[in-house]
Amino acid sequence: MNKKTIAAIAGVAVIAAASVTAMNINRSTPADTDDDFQYVVDNFADIEILRYKVPGFEDLSLRQKQLVYHLTEAALAGRDILWDQNCAFNLPVRRLVENVYTSWDGAPDNPDFLALTTYLKQIWMGNGIHHHYSSDKFVPAFSEQWFRSRVDALPEVDQPDPDTLDELCKVIFDPTVLPKRVNQADGEDLVLTSACNLYGGGITQQEVEDYYASIKTPGDSTPVSWGLNSRLVKTGEGTVDEQVYRVGGLYSPAIERIVTHLSKAAEFAENDTQRQVIDELIDYYRTGDLRKWDSYSILWVGDNDSQVDFINGFIENYGDPLGMTGAWESIVNFKNEEASRRTSVLSSEAQWFEDHSPVDPRFRKPEVKGVTAKVITAAILAGDSYPSTPIGINLPNANWIRANHGSKSVTIENITQAYDAASHGSGFNEEFVIDNATAKLLDDYLFITDNLHTDLHECLGHGSGRLLPGVDPDALKAHGSTIEETRADLFALYYLADPKLVELHLLDNPEAYKAEYYKYMLNGLMTQLMRIEPGKDVEEAHMRNRKLIAEWVLEKGAPDNVVELVKHDGKTYLRINDYEALRGLFGQLLAEIQRITSEGDYPAAAALVEKYAVKVDPAIHKEVLDRYATLSIAPYKGFVNPVYEQVIDNNGNVVDITVRYDEGYVDQMLRYSRDYSLLR
Ligand code: ZN
Repeated sequence: MNKKTIAAIAGVAVIAAASVTAMNINRSTPADTDDDFQYVVDNFADIEILRYKVPGFEDLSLRQKQLVYHLTEAALAGRDILWDQNCAFNLPVRRLVENVYTSWDGAPDNPDFLALTTYLKQIWMGNGIHHHYSSDKFVPAFSEQWFRSRVDALPEVDQPDPDTLDELCKVIFDPTVLPKRVNQADGEDLVLTSACNLYGGGITQQEVEDYYASIKTPGDSTPVSWGLNSRLVKTGEGTVDEQVYRVGGLYSPAIERIVTHLSKAAEFAENDTQRQVIDELIDYYRTGDLRKWDSYSILWVGDNDSQVDFINGFIENYGDPLGMTGAWESIVNFKNEEASRRTSVLSSEAQWFEDHSPVDPRFRKPEVKGVTAKVITAAILAGDSYPSTPIGINLPNANWIRANHGSKSVTIENITQAYDAASHGSGFNEEFVIDNATAKLLDDYLFITDNLHTDLHECLGHGSGRLLPGVDPDALKAHGSTIEETRADLFALYYLADPKLVELHLLDNPEAYKAEYYKYMLNGLMTQLMRIEPGKDVEEAHMRNRKLIAEWVLEKGAPDNVVELVKHDGKTYLRINDYEALRGLFGQLLAEIQRITSEGDYPAAAALVEKYAVKVDPAIHKEVLDRYATLSIAPYKGFVNPVYEQVIDNNGNVVDITVRYDEGYVDQMLRYSRDYSLLR
């Protein structure tokens, strides 16, 4: 509804950000507790690398498997594009550090070598020299002198020339060089001060803004996503040059490989619509024409019959300080028919939920547009969705396409399942949950209620409500994202406790919702603080939204003691005394947040955010950090992909595609660097 904000919250990356803390506390596993599948693959710095399963792949037809196979190859072919988009030095740094790593023949416990190994794992995780989440540059713990001596020992062909080596060493070791990938500090030139490689030649923010203002058509009701697939540079003559990502343009070798695999995939399309989707995407990659990206997106939204689906392109713009250029990414997936029943039931009841929501009827939608929602199984993660990955996707991002043609919303359940399984035995519940009865509640119902919360948030929450006529969709300005996420979360929380969900057979116990309520409050009041450094405020929109909700209901429920923080042996615990009253408070806050949104009441939004969402109590913050430090829980998770292989018979025919799960993080990254290094 808030146009700009919907685009910003809609996409992949933000849902990923929401996922990490949400998953830490999950303990129940829906299907398989019986096997010895190793979910945790690696640990380093603030990262844990997990593995995910692809249940149901074996049951696909050979034709579908071949479709998936070629789409996964098209996904892996784009890897270097994202690396180069993130920073111009990423590919040469990766190559050099990998060479030093693989040529090491000294003691495996040499401190410099161990530090280099950690650094290499970090840059693989960040798709470059900056952290994937904070976008701060990594700090190497090995010495420059040692590194240079190792570079000297490389075969001559792997050695950069002296000037290049000096430059790369500055990039790696000097903290003042390219310190932040995306700078969003007020009052600075965001283009000049960001290390990302989406702009070049010393072009200023003003020059970028002037350029796009000069080519946009005012009042265009179907505008293309300007700047989505290009790098903008100032040339030596001082003119502005838009370098388009396309065959024959920027990143051509990688894009050509993507197109080759997409063409092969098209031969195995499940139906004509899907073939058209792939063909249109190929056309877009060949021409770089953004109108083709829009026509592809419209076709893609309309393809609801195919079981196999994918995204592949320049999509989310969080990596651009000006929010224009899309980071390259791909996810290949297929529908989980069983679990999709859940989301199709919800979307078919969308109008009921809208009509019964606890907001002023003036702010409700008289007619809710269909949201297609499904649960999917990811087969490969690539580009900006790898190794850190979303648990949900809601695309396309273009507002006019969403309004006129709808959008697709998906929950990636084999990823949430991996998070859940990996959290077993972390000691989280024992440390933070108040008593055994509550821990049991979480064991039994958190997995399903957490997934339902995501479903409700994505396929109903964001789509609910409307602006009053004449209200500027950007009226809430910098607080727009936080308020929008608050609205969607409250919608989900409120309905999670509704008897309607039991009636629809989405839950089998009217008390199940309490599991999510407990986890949500615990996270919002305490445990999410483990991602904040001491002394800092809460900045990220989803974290602010959770804090806003939890702190507000804690305060408003205090007279009736609805929720309280109690001390046992010097430790703080959350106790919920009245779950029904808590639901009532969520409903009250939803009504107010919807009013603020519908009326564009900026002062009220700012007051709520400033009072409840930003400032951290230093005592509780320190306590949470200290208690976390005793557990082995990494703040961020990444994933390795499965390995797909063609089985070819004596006549050269592909007779099967197999999937295996035995590749480690280092082996996978080195293999990708070997087989998919398509850019120089
Ligand atoms: Zn959201």
